[in-house]
Amino acid sequence: MPQQDDAFRAPRGTNDLLPPTSWDWYEVTRLALDTFARAGYAPVETPTFEHTEVFERGVGEASEVVNKQMYTFTDLGGRSLTLRPEGTAPVMRAVLEHRLDKGALPVKLAYGSSMYRQERPQKGRYRQFFQLGVEAIGSDRPTLDAEVIEIGMRFLRSAGVAPRLLLNSIGHLDDSCRLGYLGSLVEYLKANESKLDKEDVGRIDSNPLRTFDSKQGGTLKVMESAPLITDHLCDDCKRHFERVRDLLDKLNVEYELEPRLVRGLDYYTRTAFEYVAGELGAQNAVGGGGRYDGLAEALGGDPLPGIGFALGLDRILLARSHEGGSRAPIDVYVVALGEAAVEAALVLASQIRTAGLGADMDHAGRGMKGQMKDADRSGARFAAIIGDEELASNEVTLRDLASGEQERIPMESLIARVRP
Ligand code: AMP
Repeated sequence: MPQQDDAFRAPRGTNDLLPPTSWDWYEVTRLALDTFARAGYAPVETPTFEHTEVFERGVGEASEVVNKQMYTFTDLGGRSLTLRPEGTAPVMRAVLEHRLDKGALPVKLAYGSSMYRQERPQKGRYRQFFQLGVEAIGSDRPTLDAEVIEIGMRFLRSAGVAPRLLLNSIGHLDDSCRLGYLGSLVEYLKANESKLDKEDVGRIDSNPLRTFDSKQGGTLKVMESAPLITDHLCDDCKRHFERVRDLLDKLNVEYELEPRLVRGLDYYTRTAFEYVAGELGAQNAVGGGGRYDGLAEALGGDPLPGIGFALGLDRILLARSHEGGSRAPIDVYVVALGEAAVEAALVLASQIRTAGLGADMDHAGRGMKGQMKDADRSGARFAAIIGDEELASNEVTLRDLASGEQERIPMESLIARVRP
């Protein structure tokens, strides 16, 4: 049990998202979902927890996420459930369950959801974090790879992050392609076992590709001369990769080929990519994605190709923290002077909102000075002041909070006057 003092603090690795930062979180989430929607990606939200098998099968039992990081619990019915550590397997599970794959393909979905992984917390790495992602399911065409990669880049740029794009192809699970390559990789790793970090030795058989992700000096050195997947792609995968690169060139999306870029999750095939932001330090990956043509079958469905990405919202906010500054979209702060004006202020604020604008007012019985201060804090562009005189003549005094200029105008012309 935690000490009493700690019991009433947010658990380690979690964050309270509070204003003003929460405004940035809200703005960036909206920007992402808008950007994805404009490419035809519909919102999707799956449950926060799934049957544990969805991740065991869909993420792979040899992956670090499944092995070490899942929040798994048994519910009162004795079922093993897991808080989702990632979004792709649940979305694919939902697509198969609801037979969305029997309709028009590809199924294009987008989400902004919390994920849970029991990792060692540090800056940019949390136990509850947010991912913005898309999944495009039901087509293996390279145009889809290019579209997905480009909208991720488009969104990150408009969010104020200028990432580098790293690109690779990891082939597919066939003897003529990745399976053959894994054979030579394992052989190479075994020949160099003595120079590898201890933890990486344990991965040689279970998840050899993962050794490319090692941060250990010894392993890093060994991996510099390791055989590369790109030299072992089958003709189909090679052609697919060439086409994706060609299309990215056509879209003016710059990328760097990174033959050591792998994805830790077993179901990934062919295109793998990562968006990296220099300013983030150790946790510099803002997002990653790739094809997962083997996932549907791993979840008991028919073969169904797909591609997607997940971007770390927490890291995006860190990467653009110098910008930020989002606040409530308040256009008008209604100032009420005297009890009689309070009701009129409440009604006016409501009418302003009906017109599609933002309005706020005092609910603490402040005087004129206090309300003007609160108006500044609210971020409003205008204060609409209602006193006895204004009430009697059905007018308001409209004050431009930036310039300080003010004028008396009829109440009914207020909305037209303040509309941006
Ligand atoms: P992954 O699902 O592991 O491919 O991660 C995709 C992106 O999610 C990463 O590039 C990070 O930006 C973000 N991410 C992954 N794990 C965490 C975490 N523990 N805390 C914060 N962000 C994370």
